[in-house]
Amino acid sequence: MKTIRYFLLMGALLLSAVSCINARKPIRGVIITGQNNHNWPVSHQALKMTLESSGLFSLDIAVSPKQGADMKDFAVDFSKYKLVVLDYNGDNWSADMNAAFMDFVRGGGGVVVYHAADNAFTDWREYNEMIALGGWGGRNEASGPYFYWKDGALQADNSPGNGGSHGNRHEFVLNCRADSHPITKGLPARWKHASDELYDRMRGPGGIKDLLYTAYSSPEQRGSGREEPLIFTLKHGKGRVFHIMLGHCGESLTDNPAMQCAGFQTLLLRGAEWCATGKVKQPVPKDFPTEDKVSLRPNYRPTR
Ligand code: ZN
Repeated sequence: MKTIRYFLLMGALLLSAVSCINARKPIRGVIITGQNNHNWPVSHQALKMTLESSGLFSLDIAVSPKQGADMKDFAVDFSKYKLVVLDYNGDNWSADMNAAFMDFVRGGGGVVVYHAADNAFTDWREYNEMIALGGWGGRNEASGPYFYWKDGALQADNSPGNGGSHGNRHEFVLNCRADSHPITKGLPARWKHASDELYDRMRGPGGIKDLLYTAYSSPEQRGSGREEPLIFTLKHGKGRVFHIMLGHCGESLTDNPAMQCAGFQTLLLRGAEWCATGKVKQPVPKDFPTEDKVSLRPNYRPTR
């Protein structure tokens, strides 16, 4: 009898060990937020809901002290994470926090640079190298050239002027520039984004690795008249960086079209997985927008 029990027990242990190996553990990440010229109390929740509804990610939230408060105790233990999502545009972090963050990235960590995170830290040289392009915050020709897409390639423009602007919020079409990249593979070459800001005239050191999507910034919408780089990747040391300029946060979780857009959410999810693992295993969702038709996910999960 004892022998039978022993074998039953060993069998159960073996089965549970096998199922543990098979179950895909969520990727651990952290969203850094707490200061932004945007509605961060809503945006960080929208980011978390979008990423976690996939079952692929488990995200902590690191909320900084308020603007003007002492930042010296604001510290994130990056060793716990494979992914950092930047929803932060505010006061400088401490030198220790800066160093810990860059150690994380250079050492192979994944980073999502989301919307106004590329407005942050104008004077932090390595941060600007990591984001490639930034805007506002006193950026000008000293920050690097303007970059735009023309004649099948990224062009640099060294003319003087402020970095970063956008016209009216409107719906616009994203144009794919790298259809074999893991993040874009299988997605339509052109898709219509819900109403959002279209960042233009961004400038910085450049160093874009894979330019994934551009969009035409129409003068009729007070734009630049150029095809602007809006979604791209970089390498920084061993780290992978996914920079997405889309996703201006609305008034509330229910009034937030740029972040409720199925195209934005799909790119965020695929970009985050690629940053954290170097691969994208997610299928192309059925509710992805087409060139003519915007597709919204009111509850931050696929609608079908
Ligand atoms: Zn914005």
